[in-house]
Amino acid sequence: MKKKPTIGIFKFTGCAGCQLELLHLEDVFINLLDIVDITYWVMVKRENTEGPWDISLVEGGISTPEEIEEIKEIRKKSKILVAFGDCAVNGCIPSIRNWIPQMEAEQCVYSDTSSIHSTKILGIGEYVKVDMVLKGCPPHRENIIEVIKSSLLNIRPRLRQHPVCMECKLKDNACLIISKNLPCMGPVTSAGCGAICPSLNRICEGCYGPMSNPNTSALADVFRKMGYSEEDIKRKFRKYAGMTPEFRKEAGD
Ligand code: SF4
Ligand code: SF4
Ligand code: SF4
Repeated sequence: MKKKPTIGIFKFTGCAGCQLELLHLEDVFINLLDIVDITYWVMVKRENTEGPWDISLVEGGISTPEEIEEIKEIRKKSKILVAFGDCAVNGCIPSIRNWIPQMEAEQCVYSDTSSIHSTKILGIGEYVKVDMVLKGCPPHRENIIEVIKSSLLNIRPRLRQHPVCMECKLKDNACLIISKNLPCMGPVTSAGCGAICPSLNRICEGCYGPMSNPNTSALADVFRKMGYSEEDIKRKFRKYAGMTPEFRKEAGD
């Protein structure tokens, strides 16, 4: 019988929400188990093997010297390495910590910091070559399926590069910037979530990170005209994808 492709699933600095989203594939996930062998997944399995893996899905950013060495080891043992979710792609919410001094951040959490050695929180691509990028906090199930399918077929996944606004308009939502004067990040954020938040009358917070070639300065001007301060605007661009060059430039970092 032909050997099934092996998958390893790993967690670094993140909340485990991306791994949970994988489990939430439910029926699709059960079908997936017929064609792949998940040989490493500490959150779910008691017995795990140390690779090599055909596909490695990596959740979480890198925040310690030990994690730098671990991600390099995983890279060596993986044919296809996927940055699975925004923390792995660009550091996501934990990367807000990068804007306060390292020692100060450590002291906020630990009473004794003598054995704590943290680094800036960065996406895994800062340290190793990444083959596929799965945006979102967490990624939408359709995108997860697309990336796993593409990895198994060894083809490029078809992921969206247009803004959330396009998905929002396709849903016939009234624009929250125009109708309610709310600071929505949809015009500069990558689509893929189906405009979940604006469809529930909540602004897009930018969790998918920058779309291709976003006009961030135009959106920042819109926010200024709404009355938001420079500090408010900085916080908005730093919130999820503050380490990406596109949002970082707009935050003035
Ligand atoms: S991307 Fe979001 S859901 Fe995934 S681990 Fe990071 S914080 Fe959690
Ligand atoms: S509500 Fe937000 S996502 Fe929707 S069209 Fe307006 S700016 Fe774009
Ligand atoms: S609407 Fe924006 S914040 Fe909400 S899930 Fe989509 S990309 Fe993330």
